[in-house]
Amino acid sequence: MPSRSSSRAVYPGTFDPFTNGHLDIAERAAAIFEELLVAVSADSGKQPMFSLDERVEMAREACGHLANVQVAPFDGLIVDFARSRGARALVKGLRTATDFEREMQMAMMNRSLAPGLDTLLLLADSRYAFLSSGLVREVCGLGGDVSAYVPESVLPRLVGRLQPGRDRP
Ligand code: ADP
Repeated sequence: MPSRSSSRAVYPGTFDPFTNGHLDIAERAAAIFEELLVAVSADSGKQPMFSLDERVEMAREACGHLANVQVAPFDGLIVDFARSRGARALVKGLRTATDFEREMQMAMMNRSLAPGLDTLLLLADSRYAFLSSGLVREVCGLGGDVSAYVPESVLPRLVGRLQPGRDRP
């Protein structure tokens, strides 16, 4: 069995909320790198539904079973945050060609800003390639069952926020 290289990577995102697609990427990256830091963006240009603290808590709960994964909030440039934590790489998930265009542009910009920091793009698992936090919020807000798409710890918060009339998921 090959050993993991001694290295740390950062997996950044808005995680509004953390989905099973995010979890799949975190689990796979955690098997490649010695340490993975899930970095929850305070200011991603999106207007998140959940507060930063809630998003961090949900990601922490979802990754609780992964011993080499930590979760932390960040603001400002992701390359500065990654470098301040001694990371060797950024990890991103790729679902569609649209993701690819955007991620490629960002990876090139980040590499230009921080030449020692590489971006590793992991292809989404086919079970989750259609999943986004936004779509999960939309379906849940319209009364749909989203239990197959988010970790167990996320579900009650999501339902509580978007289906307030319901007692439990
Ligand atoms: P989104 O892109 O859904 O608005 P984030 O900003 O939280 O959400 O995404 C963080 C990272 O996780 C990005 O690299 C994104 O491409 C990746 N990602 C999001 N959803 C999935 C998924 N279902 N499968 C794989 N990767 C994903």
